[in-house]
Amino acid sequence: MSDVDTKIVSLKIEAPEALVKQTEEFTKQIITILPGIHCAIGYGLANSMLIEGDDGNIIIDTLESCEAAIELHKDFQAISSKPVVAIIYTHNHADHVFGTEVLAGDNLSNVKIYSHATTRTILDVTGLIQRITFQRAARQFGMYLTEAHGIVNDGIGLHLKFDKNNRRSLLYPTDTFDTDSLNLTIAGRNLVLYHAPGETDDQIVVYMPKEKVLFAADNIYKAFPNIYAIRGTSTRDAIQWVSSLDLMRNLRAEYLVPSHTKPISGAEYIYETITIYRDAIQFVHDQTVRFMNQGFTPDDIIGKKFIQLPKHLKEHPYLQEFYGTVDWSIRAIFDRYIGWYSSKESDLNPDAPIIRAQNLIRLGGGSKKVFESAQTAYSEEKYQWCLELTEALNLHPEDLNKSEVIQLQVLALQKLASFQTSANGRNWYLTKSLEIQGLIEIKPSPNQVSQTIMNAPLKSLFMFLSINLNYQKANEVNQLFLFHFQDTNAKFSIHIRNGIADVKYQWPENFQSSSIDVIVEVTREEIWKQVIARIKSPIEAVSDEEIILKDGSGEINQELIVPFLMFLTMFTSD
Ligand SMILES: [Zn+2]
Repeated sequence: MSDVDTKIVSLKIEAPEALVKQTEEFTKQIITILPGIHCAIGYGLANSMLIEGDDGNIIIDTLESCEAAIELHKDFQAISSKPVVAIIYTHNHADHVFGTEVLAGDNLSNVKIYSHATTRTILDVTGLIQRITFQRAARQFGMYLTEAHGIVNDGIGLHLKFDKNNRRSLLYPTDTFDTDSLNLTIAGRNLVLYHAPGETDDQIVVYMPKEKVLFAADNIYKAFPNIYAIRGTSTRDAIQWVSSLDLMRNLRAEYLVPSHTKPISGAEYIYETITIYRDAIQFVHDQTVRFMNQGFTPDDIIGKKFIQLPKHLKEHPYLQEFYGTVDWSIRAIFDRYIGWYSSKESDLNPDAPIIRAQNLIRLGGGSKKVFESAQTAYSEEKYQWCLELTEALNLHPEDLNKSEVIQLQVLALQKLASFQTSANGRNWYLTKSLEIQGLIEIKPSPNQVSQTIMNAPLKSLFMFLSINLNYQKANEVNQLFLFHFQDTNAKFSIHIRNGIADVKYQWPENFQSSSIDVIVEVTREEIWKQVIARIKSPIEAVSDEEIILKDGSGEINQELIVPFLMFLTMFTSD
């Protein structure tokens, strides 16, 4: 505790005392729940659990990167050096799946990886929005923040150990199930895997009926549930989450081991804790829908403080808003049912941000006057208004010195951060304050980008080509390219037309050779991945005859390199 106290003093940006105290929840340790059942806390953002069996061990969740898993692997090995025979992914989130390669140790090639069937499907499409989610996750988890910048913790874990130097090795599940539950006996241990959609749709919880230990995944942790993640997710289904918590509490477990924050014990206490958690989710869901039905927008509901947690929920240690918040949940639940439109007519076809900024500044008597208003707002502690004004001035500074605007905006962001109980909100404001000063640029390193491409299934790479099509370049183009991979016999086709790339995982049936622009024969899938990852140039691949270009009738014609290169230039993510 004394450790933590000195940190507060050294922080430039203040933090709510409760959020600082939450750090104690993540003290690095391995807690033995029962003989042979252990929970490791504080090695990564999430916990990782070790179950010792007769002739092998089971691990539940594997942290967020290889680096985060190295120390844990050593410490698990010290507890038991039996081979890891099974790994269970409770869900697809990065903080639960990326340390597998390290934690599986010597048994990597034989280990069985269990998950719900939907985990695999979600992992396949995660790359689709990878760029934006990397950036937003970096803000939510404060991935670029140091203690000097004011990071306290990540609300449900100390810190997401992932930056541009870390390696993520994604190993796909080998054994999935799509039923409600799966009964397993692994190394003499009986486990029941329940599909329990909650914090994610693919969430599973693991129950050991004999020992009465429930591994709760992310369906409950000691912080307000993240019904919506500001890093960018679709709203979690509150009703499903509640019914999964009902399933969990009715197991009457003696030990509850969540994948974030400390385990708890005692059947009665666990039942009560899960009950209060499910009640809070139901309360926020039901009341949001109630006020929605009365015609209120999220701004109304939040602005008028219509929804306040009842006292016994508000004061409960499991419902403090260190992670999710009631207000963000209200917005999310509205959005899940109603979509983006608030119903306010001025929101229907709003002006572009720059036009709104110009109008606001004109109304305020010009940028100098508005800047003075922003300064006044700051000194009157109206930090939100100060932020709004500086955001507008940033877009339309007129004759102002932009660095002055940024300075004030940074101060407003820091103040707003200091009042946030949610680590997510605090980290976001603080990260943004570094970004606008040009101190950091959030993007994965070229190494990480190429690693992701090299690890991805070929099918996903083709799927993602369509979202990288630069439609301005593809305008007026009508071309059909066929691909064949000689090592795996995989076939794909891409038809560019009307500004879209129609990607199919097969060749069209009964095609006419004249309708084909180029047939691309690739000797090995690896070569194509290298070209996409820009490790190998397409010209080199063609001249090395690793890529062979043919016309529609199957004749080799290396002059097709020109349309082939033109084709590739149409797919740029920038
Ligand atoms: Zn998690």
